[in-house]
Amino acid sequence: MNLQTIADDIVRELQPRLGEGKVADYIPELAKVDPNQFGIAIATVDGKTYHAGDAETHFSIQSISKVFMLTLALGKVGEAIWKRVGREPSGSSFNSIVQLEHEHGIPRNPFINAGAIVVTDIVLAGHAPREAIGEFLRFMHFIANDETLSIDEKVAQSEQRTGFRNFALANFMRGFRNIHHPVDHVLGVYFHQCALMMNCVQLAHAGLYLANHGTNPLTGFSVVSPRRARRINAMMLTCGHYDGSGDFAFRVGLPGKSGVGGGILAVAPGKASMAVWSPGLDATGNPALGSVALEMLAARTGWSVFAG
Ligand code: GLU
Repeated sequence: MNLQTIADDIVRELQPRLGEGKVADYIPELAKVDPNQFGIAIATVDGKTYHAGDAETHFSIQSISKVFMLTLALGKVGEAIWKRVGREPSGSSFNSIVQLEHEHGIPRNPFINAGAIVVTDIVLAGHAPREAIGEFLRFMHFIANDETLSIDEKVAQSEQRTGFRNFALANFMRGFRNIHHPVDHVLGVYFHQCALMMNCVQLAHAGLYLANHGTNPLTGFSVVSPRRARRINAMMLTCGHYDGSGDFAFRVGLPGKSGVGGGILAVAPGKASMAVWSPGLDATGNPALGSVALEMLAARTGWSVFAG
């Protein structure tokens, strides 16, 4: 199996479909991104990287940051995290508030916005917001093995000005005492984590610990235990694409986390970490061409968590 040929073929075959979907325009800065771009990177656990298309163009990772903040929060408070956030797919859109009232301010899972905001509140404990952002950035440098990663302040400010629904979610949960810090502090950190810029190659490298039993094979550093890596993967499979999670599992068969910047991080446990990027989103807010590309990649490699 030649992974470089597979990546090149996918880029070529998707060329006529570039621009499909709709860029996220509810964050004004993201509305400016050219939709006619597509990149793919595959990093294998034996240390090789393959990429094609716009795989070295930086984009806003948005909700993919939720995977990394969950990893950080689990490192801080361990299983106690599950007292404040659930582990069930929501079946609702990424920014939905409806379940929160019935469920006493406990979000369904750490990957919908409400759950991610609670996770950020946990990481913020004992820190000023600036320190928590710094801790996140250092962690990303560590797992991606790349000190050049940085946050796009314009994207963070853009969401800070227009993220009314996230303010509503955070205030609502603070009313249930499930947010412990001032809402503007928590969201200040959340908007900055979402505004981290990465390219497909960097993202595929950052996800390698999830493909390799918790250890980054490029550096040999252990990030999490093998059990924790399995559980984060389980959460990505069941909740990583909001109300499109079932469809992604059906079509791709791998744990994945999408972001409204157009990126998807996907993991083939024991084999590879993959990143795709296409700015146009489908009706569930998930990258349209990115999901198609991963479906093609999974079919051509035979990678699936549902096959032996
Ligand atoms: N920053 C985005 C928001 O909170 C993240 C959503 C996403 O990437 O799905 O609306």
